[in-house]
Amino acid sequence: MRRKIVAGNWKMNNDLSETEALLNDLIEQVPNTDASVMVAPAFVNLFQAFNVLKTFNVEVIAQNMHQEAKGAYTGEVSARMLKSVGIKTVILGHSERRAYFGETDELLAKKVDAALANELEIIFCFGEELEDRKAGNHFNIVENQLKNALFHLDTAAWKNIVLAYEPVWAIGTGETASPEQAQEMHAFIRKTVSEKFGDETGNGVSILYGGSVKPANAAEIFAKEDVDGGLIGGASLKAADFVAIINAI
Ligand code: 13P
Repeated sequence: MRRKIVAGNWKMNNDLSETEALLNDLIEQVPNTDASVMVAPAFVNLFQAFNVLKTFNVEVIAQNMHQEAKGAYTGEVSARMLKSVGIKTVILGHSERRAYFGETDELLAKKVDAALANELEIIFCFGEELEDRKAGNHFNIVENQLKNALFHLDTAAWKNIVLAYEPVWAIGTGETASPEQAQEMHAFIRKTVSEKFGDETGNGVSILYGGSVKPANAAEIFAKEDVDGGLIGGASLKAADFVAIINAI
């Protein structure tokens, strides 16, 4: 069901004590809100983060997982392992996973299936690179990313999918898509999902924007009709900034 979400992707930041400190700051400062608030610490800190936040209205989510159920995959973490430490939601398809770890649409389709088979909710990330946008190819790229990783699903599976449009050129660069650019793409994404899976699914899916969201620009981006919240990187590492972004929704 379509809902407002603000999720912090901590990426490879914060050791255990830093994780605890930031979570405690959040506990003190997080406002009462109808939006779902989530944070994604590193794998090693998920168990402790889950325990710290257990009784608070902030969900701990994972940044990634492996597509296989178990076995000889040194260094990897399975969906079942995530579930066993209390995780209900996983980010998949982040552009850094695609760029630095070779994750393709085809691989991501498998990860999506594995997550759903384990009843995990997915925040599925995708978005074009700067050259794609300059070439006017951004709608094609985004449509293909969606089709290749998610169009094999049945309609019922979409209740466990959240989409996160993250134009690569706006991630960690300080450059954001304008609210109009975000709205234009989000409307296109909703239309693309509706055409394949029906209006109920298209209108029901939450679509987050990610890419240099900060306190100063969050409100104008979140005000757009088809933007249901944000996936926040750098600005989620300071409680005050993250809270300001939550307050903007
Ligand atoms: P920044 O907010 O640091 O640009 O990162 C966005 C992001 O990648 C969230 O997943």
